[in-house]
Parts: sequence; structure tokens; C-alpha cells
Amino acid sequence: MWKIRRQILDLFFPEFPRCVWCGERYQPYYGLAFCRRCLNRMPLITGPVCLRCNRPLRGERNDLCEQCRLEVLFYEQGMAVAVYDGLMRELLHAAKYHFRPDLARGLGTLLAAWAENEKRLEPVEVIIPIPLHAQKLMTRGYNQAELMAEPLASVLRRPLLTEVLHRVKPTQSQSKLSRQERKANAENAFLVTDCAAVAGKKVLLVDDICTTGYTLSAAARSVLLAGADSVRALTVAVGVLEEEWLR
Ligand SMILES: [Zn+2]
Ligand SMILES: [Zn+2]
Repeated sequence: MWKIRRQILDLFFPEFPRCVWCGERYQPYYGLAFCRRCLNRMPLITGPVCLRCNRPLRGERNDLCEQCRLEVLFYEQGMAVAVYDGLMRELLHAAKYHFRPDLARGLGTLLAAWAENEKRLEPVEVIIPIPLHAQKLMTRGYNQAELMAEPLASVLRRPLLTEVLHRVKPTQSQSKLSRQERKANAENAFLVTDCAAVAGKKVLLVDDICTTGYTLSAAARSVLLAGADSVRALTVAVGVLEEEWLR
């Protein structure tokens, strides 16, 4: 059925773009790089969320999650488009490890579509993607967070600063570490080399995933030390369950 549909679309609408994930031609909407079928499979955040970090909550209403009750993170507001689960897990994994810069940029169109009319982004003056360590950038060939931030920056019409924040500590992969190890791993990982670019500014940090929030928090701390007025953070996905970070 889908194969026939694809052939028909190919025949009659060769000018339609192909979905960056499934390759199906689709009628573009809101500048998104994904077809509706893929979009419908994404675990977009809809239900109750933590007011501070945007993590989905089990309860009935918006509240603070367990982590935000117990810990102080250096960014004042976390935001995310989807839950790190299902198809979103596959997409982010491929964007990072399967050399898919096109997919990384495609995921950025999700951020851009989400950002339009988002009140919490209005005060933002500059956008900074979370950098990779130089060594990792060399082997991966691109910084996925930077590619994801590009469509967002052009929709918000804010400068994208890519040479201001640097990752000075080659961090281990966070995924196999305990919560405390993750925290130590992220500490002092970042350095701002151009303080004038952020001084007095309301900064938005952009990354692919927020699990514990420690990476974003460490980056936010560096940016605040460099004189930024405030820091918010936006990620494509946020870690799903409260239990996950409590482990
Ligand atoms: Zn698709
Ligand atoms: Zn929270």
C-alpha cells in the first residue's frame, strides 16, 4: 500500500521532498523534514511535565520532578520536544553514530517548528549548541547539536554562536555511568573563550538529549561565569522516567 503510494507521489510530485528518515515523498508542512507517518510515530511530549526541566511526569498535572526538587541545576528552564524513547531513540542514535548530518539537521526542523510561538524562547538573545570535544568532532565529522540548532536559529532569527563555548575535557560516554559519575564527568568540561559574546545576554543552549541534565548544567555554569544574564536549555529529547535517573 505504502509502496504504491510512494510510486504515485514520485510520479506526480517529483518536486516534493523525501522524508529524511523513511525516504517517502511527502507534502512539506511547517518546514519539517519528516513525513506525517514518521512524525506520528514520534513520542512528542504532550502530557504533564516538570515545570522546570520538562521531563514527563506520571501524575495528572504539571509539577516539579524529583530531580528538580532535590538538585540545583545551573540553567533556569529546560525544554524538550520529545521523550527519549521509541523512534526518537533510533533517530538520535543514527544522527550521532551513523554519520547522518542530514538527519541531525532534520531533527533541527522539529526544534524550529516547536519554537515558533513558544513564549519561553522569546527572551533568548543568542543560541549556543553544546560543543563536542575537538577529538570527537574529528572522528564524528560534525557536531549534531550544532546542526540541530541551525534551523532553530534561523526561525528565531537569533545568532548561533559556535566558537564561544568549548569542551575542554574529553568526556566518556555518559550512557554507562552512574548518576554521580555522570555529574563528575560533566564538571569543568566546558570553557567560554569569548566572554564578550555572552556577557549580559540571555542564552539558549541546544543539545540532542537531556538525560540527567548534568552536561547542560555544566555548560550553563561556564556561560554564567562568563557573564551571561541567564541560561535556558532546549533539547530534541528528554530522558523518560524519573526512576531512570534515580538509579
Ligand atoms: Zn517518513
Ligand atoms: Zn524537573
